[in-house]
Amino acid sequence: MGWLKVTFWGVRGSIPVPGPSTMRYGGNTSCLEIRSEDGDWIIFDAGTGLRVLGESLDLSKKHDITILISHPHWDHINGIPFFTPIYIPGNRVAIYGPGTVEMSLEDILSGQMKYSYFPVRTVELQAEISYHQIEQDSFTIGNFTIESITLNHPVACLGYKVHYGGKTFIYLGDNEPYYNVYKDGDGEMGEFVENLNRRLVEFVKGADALVTDSQYLPSEYESKRGWGHSTTHHVVNMAVRAGVKKLFFFHHEPLRSDDDLDDILLHYRQMIQDRGFPLELHAAMEKQTFDI
Ligand SMILES: [Zn+2]
Ligand SMILES: [Zn+2]
Repeated sequence: MGWLKVTFWGVRGSIPVPGPSTMRYGGNTSCLEIRSEDGDWIIFDAGTGLRVLGESLDLSKKHDITILISHPHWDHINGIPFFTPIYIPGNRVAIYGPGTVEMSLEDILSGQMKYSYFPVRTVELQAEISYHQIEQDSFTIGNFTIESITLNHPVACLGYKVHYGGKTFIYLGDNEPYYNVYKDGDGEMGEFVENLNRRLVEFVKGADALVTDSQYLPSEYESKRGWGHSTTHHVVNMAVRAGVKKLFFFHHEPLRSDDDLDDILLHYRQMIQDRGFPLELHAAMEKQTFDI
């Protein structure tokens, strides 16, 4: 068991935002990968960053690819039709993820390649593609042991925990902390909600690295409550409570410029330092790699 590395290929939420103000952190939507020295390899989410990841591969070689999808919103699956390895015979692509109440995982993913949306027919996908619809579960992929957990989002959405050689890496897709919908306060309901949130704190407990949706600032949250996303405040609190070692803000709000992200990071790093929390904080940046 040697090194374990994570690379970001798309760090943005909701919609790609190319342009001068997003050049440093990047404008592609959700996609990251984890690789081990033993050759274990998993891609998380298939936003537009997946296209860039595909370009980084040596396509003269055959690849055995595993993609874990958090949920099938556009910003998490839109890169699949533009992922070159799916057109090359001999490649194998296994896609794991949840379905929705209306559709299976396979119907959702092949649906976005229907002729009305996309010019290539599914028969032109030369790679061997398999679909694995999962819920909250645990399974292995090579030397990686994976646990998935249900998150709070308008559609079924999963977070993933990877165990490898005593290390743990966690990727949480889109997620909003549960809250008490009864504004006038209902004691029992408050406790119920707190238990639901505690379940996620338990899941991320002691993680070596946590990458999580932190789309909004606390000042933006009230008008977006119920949309299924966390604030920077929520995730810093959760990481501190759970004793996470490294936290990465991810799924950045599309309107957020590079300078905004720098300012946010600075603000929270100062707060963490002032309070003496043993947490290392970063904002995910496209094409950045870190060791676990
Ligand atoms: Zn999203
Ligand atoms: Zn979503």
